[in-house]
Amino acid sequence: MELRICHLYPDVLNLYGDRGNIACMRRRLEWRGIGCTVTELPLGVRDDLTGYDLFFIGGGQDFEQTVLLSDLSAGRRENIRAAAEDGRTFLCICGGYQLLGTGYRTADGQLCEYTGILDLYTEGSSDRMIGNFAYRLGAESGSSVVIGFENHGGRTFLGSGVSPLGTVLRGSGNNGSDGTEGVRYKNVYGTYSHGPVLPKNPAFCDHILQGALERKYGAARLEPLDDSAETAARAAMLTRLHIT
Ligand code: GLN
Repeated sequence: MELRICHLYPDVLNLYGDRGNIACMRRRLEWRGIGCTVTELPLGVRDDLTGYDLFFIGGGQDFEQTVLLSDLSAGRRENIRAAAEDGRTFLCICGGYQLLGTGYRTADGQLCEYTGILDLYTEGSSDRMIGNFAYRLGAESGSSVVIGFENHGGRTFLGSGVSPLGTVLRGSGNNGSDGTEGVRYKNVYGTYSHGPVLPKNPAFCDHILQGALERKYGAARLEPLDDSAETAARAAMLTRLHIT
């Protein structure tokens, strides 16, 4: 078995160690004897995206988020939509998550027209939501508690065509007001959680990998790993966030 991972826009979207998510996925696959290739697709490199099982898009600052608009318009938007509708797996963080929606109006009023593959949009604000946060994943995403770090001015609002990824336990999440965090649609996961998110949340990582492997091979079994270091780190953070 093997997963082919595509890292989209590594040159412009990569904040707070987001690329660590790829290292985490790769190692958790390799520790189980499952192959993994990683292809980086920076701005301007043409590729129809049909040769990958899992896509990763990291976060970015407002400026970088406007830089990639011309690339999205040059065919990338349609390629991303086709891959998502085809059930391929996406993990998108913060600015990369916002990019899944119809658009993002930045705090200084610039409108970024995004992929529109998901029914959500983002309104910018100079009042940023910053700090460690936590949320509980919905049942369809495994129900575990995700610990992360958020830093965004954008407030994301979900339409009726998509579900939240989870429910906020501490911090702000999608918009600081409706208690939702992130988005889940088919095998697409969007979250505001930087950090990177997956090394701190091995159950979430395995849930994502499992889905990608099942889509490709019909069935897949992930052997348990020794997550004692991760569990100890999580316990410390859960205590700090007053989550029992
Ligand atoms: N620039 C976006 C915002 O502030 C996304 C930030 C990020 O990716 N951390 O909302």
